[in-house]
Amino acid sequence: MSDRPLRLRFAPSPTGRLHVGGARTALFNWAYARRHGGTFVLRIEDTDAERSTPEHERAILEGLRWLGLEWDEGPDTGGPYAPYRQSERIERHRELARALLAAGHAYRCFCTPERLDVLRAEQASRGEKPAYDRRCAELPRDEVERRLAGGERAVLRFRVPPGETRFVDHVRGEVVFQNAEVDDWVMLRADESPTYNFVVVCDDVDMRISHVFRGEEHLVNTPKQVLLYRAFERPIPEFGHLPLMLGADGKKLSKRTGDTALEDYREKGYPREAILNFLCLQGWALDGSTEVFSTDDLVANFDIADVTKGGAIFDLDKFRWLAGEYIRADSLERVAERCAPFVVAAGLMDEAELRERWNWFLEVVRGEKERIRTYAELPERIAYLFAGDEEVPYHPEAEERVRRQGTAAPLLREYAGWLRGELAAGATPAALAEGTRAWVKERGLKSPELFQPLRLALTGQSGGPDLFETIALLGAERALRRIEGGAGRLA
Ligand code: GLU
Repeated sequence: MSDRPLRLRFAPSPTGRLHVGGARTALFNWAYARRHGGTFVLRIEDTDAERSTPEHERAILEGLRWLGLEWDEGPDTGGPYAPYRQSERIERHRELARALLAAGHAYRCFCTPERLDVLRAEQASRGEKPAYDRRCAELPRDEVERRLAGGERAVLRFRVPPGETRFVDHVRGEVVFQNAEVDDWVMLRADESPTYNFVVVCDDVDMRISHVFRGEEHLVNTPKQVLLYRAFERPIPEFGHLPLMLGADGKKLSKRTGDTALEDYREKGYPREAILNFLCLQGWALDGSTEVFSTDDLVANFDIADVTKGGAIFDLDKFRWLAGEYIRADSLERVAERCAPFVVAAGLMDEAELRERWNWFLEVVRGEKERIRTYAELPERIAYLFAGDEEVPYHPEAEERVRRQGTAAPLLREYAGWLRGELAAGATPAALAEGTRAWVKERGLKSPELFQPLRLALTGQSGGPDLFETIALLGAERALRRIEGGAGRLA
């Protein structure tokens, strides 16, 4: 590690929603900065004016903040190297481009798009890689001036020097490339708008970025960027290219195999701690076996050298499992708080009613906390509590099974009579459980003979939380109405 001040950045383009791969990049940069007391910078790369929108930028900031990945410098917080929005730095980019031009590291190119198309076609027909043939690389200065004065359009190209270049990638090891393999790429377009490879280096240089950790898709750009650092005579940052995230089908993660935006998982009610944990596992491991760990563990242990070159599989089943683990381990109060917006959105209760019946709602959540894997799963599971007692929707298969048994109606009727007395006497759920077992035994029944119709009548389902807790949640009157009603419906 060099002795430069440690400065890392996350540089999203606000051209869409925050991708889970982007969130992982942010997380690893953040963790490295936090571990080593460095600075974490957020820079918005919005030079693609057509595709960038302020809404996307806002959503990205909001998403990062929701994950808890606070930045030290950024477009909203400011900092010593402001502005942190790339579009506000264009003048600076042009100034740096002029400096490179003056130093001979860049040249004006007047080749028209038509000529370049022909050139590419010729190269393709010879089976060669497309590359600029440097026709404009050595134009005399007075010719350049004359053509510019005459209104000819020109781009600015980087003059790739001869030789060989090396850099160390902390994930992939040493990378060596022949400069001749790198095209004389365009830094400024004819309208003077800068290209990604150029601005990213300008800004990383100006913002004193010491470490660049980003997705593997940028590895192809790194040679161009390294050569640019050399031309600027500025230190080359430490690089680390994080492995591509693959879907369960082994291909690049895409909508086909699952949601790709962080927001989707948030909307689906995944706990943020589970999201962070899962993102950590995309190319990194705490040790050989621990799968559930916190961002504190990540910060205390993260090293870019431990990131794997491949094998970041976005396994949704594992993600769901992990989400469930977090919900199980969390406090009842917090799970309830986080489920609340989903319950309101599902229209089961409005906010005021929810607050009024908060203690009741806690008991509802207690019954489901062990089972749900996301907060969004709760409303569907508890909807039966909000159904009209006469029309609890019965799950067709469960109903079919109960009907086949043939004894449901008389049993429920008789049981309701017994239960009414117990409830009137204030029996607790535990006492009811015990009393019911005795009731079943006295009649020489097998437990499911009573329990299946009882559960169907109370919940419409064939499985779920403890039945006597459910009776308590419904209250004596509603529970009895459902059981008696069930006797009628199943007759
Ligand atoms: N703006 C680029 C992106 O969103 C980031 C490039 C980089 O990290 O160097 O992919």
